[in-house]
Amino acid sequence: MALFFDAFILLFVGLGIFAEVRRGLFFALFDIVRVIGGIGAGFGAYSLCHRLFHSYTAGFIGFGIAALAVVMLVPAILWWLKANPAWGMTTFGRAAAGIIGLGIGLLIAAVFVPVLGRTRAGQAGVSHSILARPFLETMPALYYAADAFNLDLPMLNTRAIRFEDEGRAERAALVDRINYSRLDGSTCIECRAAVKFAGYHRRFEVAVSPEFVCPNCGRRSDGCQTFEGFHRMYGRCPVDVSDALGPIDCGVWPNDRPVYPRGSCPVDGKVLGPQIRHRTTEHIENWRVRSGLRPSPNSVLSVASVVNSISVLGLRPWY
Ligand SMILES: [Zn+2]
Ligand SMILES: [Zn+2]
Ligand SMILES: [Zn+2]
Repeated sequence: MALFFDAFILLFVGLGIFAEVRRGLFFALFDIVRVIGGIGAGFGAYSLCHRLFHSYTAGFIGFGIAALAVVMLVPAILWWLKANPAWGMTTFGRAAAGIIGLGIGLLIAAVFVPVLGRTRAGQAGVSHSILARPFLETMPALYYAADAFNLDLPMLNTRAIRFEDEGRAERAALVDRINYSRLDGSTCIECRAAVKFAGYHRRFEVAVSPEFVCPNCGRRSDGCQTFEGFHRMYGRCPVDVSDALGPIDCGVWPNDRPVYPRGSCPVDGKVLGPQIRHRTTEHIENWRVRSGLRPSPNSVLSVASVVNSISVLGLRPWY
């Protein structure tokens, strides 16, 4: 499978250069429009299909069809206009076209490598592919760019839909993108200080998670350990959730220090009732069992619980 990724990338880059040198600068310039338009239409179709069918595969098929439709439409228009100026075929024109071809090949690979890497079959291969590595390493950069321009890139974002499923890869789903950069300065649920957005970090090769760190108490999370972040991510108040579940911790970047949100929520003003204060050790132990940090005596040890336990020890196997 690793070889497949290497071959896939080489093929796209090679084909990109070859095709553009042959076609010349005029068509190469139009190909930039085609590729950007195709990817844009693909993302739109992906988002639509994913919302309609709740399936990654359906979204991916939609992406392919929409992208191909745009990519094929542009040359049809050029053919119909019968445009082919001579300046595109000069030596300079062909050399410049080759550079464009290289860029287009890299861009196509950059879109498809993370997509294929997410599939069940692709997961093992993508981590061993030498050529896929730089594409995966640049993934966080796309998140910063998407934040800066506030773009909706649905396929670049999987996370738990329910707080209870945080850190469990098998429960992660593709959901609306959140502009995490804008959650910088949210209120820490442990000490109420303003947290710092510490950037996007890769986990498990293809997954990217935001990281927030509280400068006052050191609490880390993917945003769920702040009042504003929790509301934005799960559409619920952390006060309500911990009222039902007991003290909470982040499943993505665990602190091994579950807490009850302190004080009133700055989003909706909710405060935990005084009876909550008395539930302490028993609830914390229950929370650990429930969240997989401690295997309960009668539960099967899941992959998520192993990963969580390892991360609690300070080792992060996905780095
Ligand atoms: Zn804090
Ligand atoms: Zn609230
Ligand atoms: Zn979290």
